[in-house]
Amino acid sequence: MKNIVPHHFSISKEQRTQQKGHGAFLIWFTGLSGSGKSTIANAVEEALFKKNIHTYTLDGDNVRKGLNNNLSFSPEDRTENIRRIAEVSNLMIDAGLVVLAAFVSPYAKDRANIKNCVGHTNFVQVFVQTPVEECERRDVKGLYAKARAGEITNFTGVNAPYEAPVAPDVQINTIETTVEEAVVIIMNCIAKRLGRESGIGNRESN
Ligand code: ADP
Repeated sequence: MKNIVPHHFSISKEQRTQQKGHGAFLIWFTGLSGSGKSTIANAVEEALFKKNIHTYTLDGDNVRKGLNNNLSFSPEDRTENIRRIAEVSNLMIDAGLVVLAAFVSPYAKDRANIKNCVGHTNFVQVFVQTPVEECERRDVKGLYAKARAGEITNFTGVNAPYEAPVAPDVQINTIETTVEEAVVIIMNCIAKRLGRESGIGNRESN
């Protein structure tokens, strides 16, 4: 960009990672509203926190109310929503955190852009694959009922599309898999990425 000259800061991502003692990357949860993204992300963050891993969770509540409070659910704004979240995730990875992000993110193209933004090796995609009928039965936030009544347009699964990931790193069917089992599956998937090269934070805190 014109007239933007990067300053070379002396502390690198590698040094920050070294100090924290574990790898930094993004775990991206995608799936329908009510599929279980936030529930599973929360349980994974608890498991990581117990291992003294430095984490942060981004979700609709803390992003749509602040940074992205000027965006709607139109296709263009959904894309911009995801672009900003990817950029924020990238900064947090640079800061040395394991970032968990739980967003419907219905478009394959947007999810591919996240992967490009943070780098392929820093991206773990978890598809929380719960059939729409089950999400609607749960209707955690009462949004399916509103969408069916025509009070919400652009509601994914009802009157807006969801493009299922073709080759996610992890796929969880929440009818067959409990939250606890999902945590074990995801922790196994990220074990290598967590590393623990310096050994710092290897102890459980309880
Ligand atoms: P999302 O973040 O995808 O919109 P939530 O996590 O807010 O979904 O809601 C999912 C709901 O489904 C919660 O009420 C949760 O308790 C319930 N649920 C039932 N079984 C599971 C499961 N195996 N995994 C995740 N959530 C489950």
